Amino acid sequence: MRYSQGMSKPAPSQKCPSCERIFAADIRGQWMPFCSERCKLADLYLWMSESIGIPTGSSEEEDDAEPEPPPVRKQWDFD
Ligand SMILES: [Zn+2]
Repeated sequence: MRYSQGMSKPAPSQKCPSCERIFAADIRGQWMPFCSERCKLADLYLWMSESIGIPTGSSEEEDDAEPEPPPVRKQWDFD
């Protein structure tokens, strides 16, 4: 069967939020609005990572400040 846009009921297309692939939407699809289980899990994992703050390897706050040496007290002998 040839598909054309002039058909009475074109299949609704959905853009997968995860992989951004355009796929035929199925309102009964168990992975909606994702195209597959893989994308749903990937997005879920990403969301969880952001919400609980799983370290991704690059931390913006590098806390490697060296301890300051104690101030050297100069002996000014103004007696
Ligand atoms: Zn996808």
